Amino acid sequence: MNALITGGAGFIGSHLAEALLARGDSVRVLDDLSTGARSNVAALEGNARFRCVVGDVTDRATVAGLMEECDVVFHLAAAVGVRLVVDSPVRTIETNLRGTEVVLELAAEKNKKVLLTSTSEVYGKSAKASFAETDDLLIGPSNMGRWSYACSKLMDEFLALAYWRERRLPAVVARLFNTVGPRQTGRYGMVIPSFVSQALDHQPITVHGTGKQRRAFAYVADVVGALVALMDREDTAGEVFNVGNDQDISIEELARLVKKMAGSASEIVRVPYEQAYGAGFEDMQRRMPDLSKIKRWVGYEPRFQLPAMLEQVIEFERSRRETRPASPVTR
Ligand code: UDP
Repeated sequence: MNALITGGAGFIGSHLAEALLARGDSVRVLDDLSTGARSNVAALEGNARFRCVVGDVTDRATVAGLMEECDVVFHLAAAVGVRLVVDSPVRTIETNLRGTEVVLELAAEKNKKVLLTSTSEVYGKSAKASFAETDDLLIGPSNMGRWSYACSKLMDEFLALAYWRERRLPAVVARLFNTVGPRQTGRYGMVIPSFVSQALDHQPITVHGTGKQRRAFAYVADVVGALVALMDREDTAGEVFNVGNDQDISIEELARLVKKMAGSASEIVRVPYEQAYGAGFEDMQRRMPDLSKIKRWVGYEPRFQLPAMLEQVIEFERSRRETRPASPVTR
């Protein structure tokens, strides 16, 4: 199989590229290196079945050329991370809408299957214990910037499903819940790389709000396995799937666990949301996927639990510190 991965030099995309190459596929990556990094795919550059193109997913000519060369498209390119979404809302909305329009339009012309990665943010503020794909979505008002991300990804979902219904473009949607692993950066607000960096750099570990909010973290290898399985099965077109892990933890417990596992003396501090993200920020108290559908369809079962994930991230961040000077944590 020849796969195009948009956003393939990002955290999840680079792990996906690696997994596809390992099973013998050819991989083209398109990435503008805005939040992705060439270093994420450096180890793949010598592989004859791999090519990384630096370019913009909203650039039709570039995407059209790559579309010719591939059989399937994993569309991961997007503006991600709560920090980026809050700081750069125009960029978030435009990248997420325009990029997906271009990819779907060109994929439809050539009839190439598309897997669109969406996000658990679309479930919004729903207080349900776990979220199923057919649940109502409870997104906040438009004066709160955070929700622009959920809405832009939701429009991407609608568009992908519309292409399937109206033009028979095989498109499948994967709603990714909090994903973690080596190469994820804390720069855009993700909690685990932030806590691990703070712990290793002897900086205060910054717990936002009460710390009682809960998240369920999935390991990137499990997530990538799910994406490949959803692409491989032909009858997933027109369907939406949650992808994640259904064991959750509170953020304050997470801070203590990271501190312990990193052997750190860092202090754990509370930071009000207003201070972290500006006034009027809304957070979710819990967010957990109902995984019944993906388990039923492709036999998905997360293999990694939190301590093993943290071990990998701590090890990665430690070795990164040995090869280059530690970057100061700014929050
Ligand atoms: N968080 C935190 N300290 C940080 C970064 C994040 O307490 O330095 C919290 C954040 O407010 C949220 C949770 O950790 O409640 C998960 O945040 P992340 O941005 O990783 O993912 P999301 O909010 O999209 O679930």
